[in-house]
Amino acid sequence: MKKIEAIIKPFKLDEVKEALQEVGVQGITVTEAKAFGRQKGHTELYRGAEYVVDFLPKVKIEIVVPTERLEAAVEAGPPPLAEEARARAGEDAEIFASRLHVYWIGALDGREDYLSRALLRPYCATLTGLDLAPQRPRPRSGCPACGGAASVAARRPDTDSARRFLCCALCGGEWPVNRIRCPACGEEDPYKLPTFQSDLHPTARIEGCETCRGYVKSLDLSTDGRLVPEVDDLASLGLDLWAIEQGFKRIEPGLAGI
Ligand SMILES: [Zn+2]
Ligand SMILES: [Zn+2]
Repeated sequence: MKKIEAIIKPFKLDEVKEALQEVGVQGITVTEAKAFGRQKGHTELYRGAEYVVDFLPKVKIEIVVPTERLEAAVEAGPPPLAEEARARAGEDAEIFASRLHVYWIGALDGREDYLSRALLRPYCATLTGLDLAPQRPRPRSGCPACGGAASVAARRPDTDSARRFLCCALCGGEWPVNRIRCPACGEEDPYKLPTFQSDLHPTARIEGCETCRGYVKSLDLSTDGRLVPEVDDLASLGLDLWAIEQGFKRIEPGLAGI
C-alpha cells in the first residue's frame, strides 16, 4: 500500500474522488479533519452562491498512489533509474509514503527524487485540474497552481512577438513568464542570460543563466504549433548533454529524468 494524505474542502470530495479514480488512484478513504479545529468565520462562494461559514470544514482523504509508473521505470527507464524504481517498489510502505511526503512538502527537487515526482503527478494534476490548490509550498519561482518547478519552457506566437511559458513538472500546467528572466534565480540582465541552439534541433534551445548556472530548455511553438513541450523536449536530449558539459545544470529534470 503506497499511501498519501490530503486535506480538502468537503464539497469538492465527490469531484476529487471521481477524478482520482479516472487516473487510476484507488483506495480513497475519507475522514473528518478535526485537527484543523475552528478558524475564523469567512465568506465562501460556492457555485455562484455566497454563504458564511463559522469555521473551515475540511476532510482528510487518504489515497493509494498507483505504482504503474514505477513498473514503467523498471522496464523502460535508463539503468540507474530502473534500479532505483525496483528498489522503491520493494520498499516498506511507511518508508515509501514518507519519501512521497518529503517531496510533497518541498524538501527535495525533482533531480533528487524524480520517482516521487512522477508518482505524485496524477494526483497533483487532478487537484489542480479541479481548481483545488494542493497544500504544499509555493516558491516564488514555482508553478502558481501547485508550487512545482518548471521542467521546460515554451514560446507561443502572440500578436507581435512570442509569449514565454513555463511548464510545471509536477502538475503539468503552465504559466506565463517574463521573456528575459532566469526562472531559477530571477536574473534579468540579458547579458547574463545566453541562449544556445543547434541546427540539429531547430525548435529547441537552451536558455542558460550565467549567475546561477541553471538552464531551462525552451521549445519554439511559434514555428511549429504541434509541439507538445514536455514530450518534444525528449527529442533534443543531445542539447541537454551539451549544456551539462558546459557546466550548466537543468533547473528541473524533464520526463527523461535528465
Ligand atoms: Zn504545477
Ligand atoms: Zn539563474
